[in-house]
Amino acid sequence: MYKITLIEGDGIGPEVISSAKRVLEALKLDIEWEVMPAGLSAQEKYSSLLPKETLDSIKKNKIALKGPITTPVGSGYRSVNVALRQELDLYACVRPSWYIEGISPINKNFDIVVIRENTEDLYAGIEFKKDNSNTLDLIKHINSVSEKKLREDSAISIKTISYFGSKRIIEFAFNFALQEKREKITCVHKANIMKFTDGLFLETFREIASKYPQIESNDIIVDNLAMQLVKRPDEFDVLVLPNLYGDIISDLCAGLMGGLGLAPGANVGDKIAVFEPVHGSAPKYASLNKVNPMATIFSCYLLLKYLKEDLKAKILKDAVLEIIKEKEYLTYDLKPNRYDSTSVGTSEVTSAIINKIKALL
Ligand code: NAD
Repeated sequence: MYKITLIEGDGIGPEVISSAKRVLEALKLDIEWEVMPAGLSAQEKYSSLLPKETLDSIKKNKIALKGPITTPVGSGYRSVNVALRQELDLYACVRPSWYIEGISPINKNFDIVVIRENTEDLYAGIEFKKDNSNTLDLIKHINSVSEKKLREDSAISIKTISYFGSKRIIEFAFNFALQEKREKITCVHKANIMKFTDGLFLETFREIASKYPQIESNDIIVDNLAMQLVKRPDEFDVLVLPNLYGDIISDLCAGLMGGLGLAPGANVGDKIAVFEPVHGSAPKYASLNKVNPMATIFSCYLLLKYLKEDLKAKILKDAVLEIIKEKEYLTYDLKPNRYDSTSVGTSEVTSAIINKIKALL
């Protein structure tokens, strides 16, 4: 029996999580869910966006399935998602995307895994607000030690890249490639401009790559990668990136796959893993039975692989891919025209996937 922490999340979270639960039940897995709060609903009840009880549950069960959580933009709130990854030291964000015939907007047979560093970089959460006394002191100090001068009315976000953080994510990427029988790893950076931070990431990549001669390795500047991914996605295999580039490039890869409604993700540490779709809480679609649950269901595919339930993982993925191929039960986002009246809702596509699973079991 597996005991798994379940966070429904905000916006469309409860709907896509409910679909994922139904699908896992259809696979006849013995799972006991520990439903825990996080996000806006937790704020109302527990006066905390990320209650300690929720973190304790994940630490105890060591595995969680999570719906997306809303972070109000520009307010004083820190992102619950970022906090969760940092608190549990889930340093690797693994986001696969692959070509799906008839859905992917680019006709190239690609299969890419983005491995994003999850704890450092501009997402470390070290920020200084414009006009605060600490910020003014910092600006004074920087202006006294740096040739380049900061404007006094600046706000500051610190970009940190450590040797420790770079080494462990890059080693994770190489070990992942070995385990998944992948052939090539590309390090993504902007070391031509950020010589010390991205430079350190690249230097560390070269050091680690020399220890894995069986895996081909190269590097690319992030803006060039954005263009190459659109033109030649089939030339990439595993990408390893610092946090911010990883966030942006994984959405690009989600778009190549066919949209955010499809793209799955996992946040992995040495002992704990939290599975969640790449997409956010899309509040405007909440409770409309409209959005695509497949990204969350594919995240369950990653969860099952993590649990070494390879056979059931394969049945799950095959069932979803068959539903996509048949084109009869598709949510609006997978239609060429989003107003297509033949689109079905979240619960209908879930039922279709469940019927397919029953046929494949
Ligand atoms: P979003 O991913 O929520 O939505 C962007 C657009 O993508 C939606 O308007 C919709 O058109 C489409 N989309 C997303 N999920 C879909 C699905 N399952 N099916 C069909 N279409 C789908 O991004 P956003 O609007 O930038 O963010 C909304 C909120 O989500 C913000 O508060 C943000 O901070 C949060 N967020 C949370 C996570 C997370 O919990 N891991 C990740 C990203 C964003």
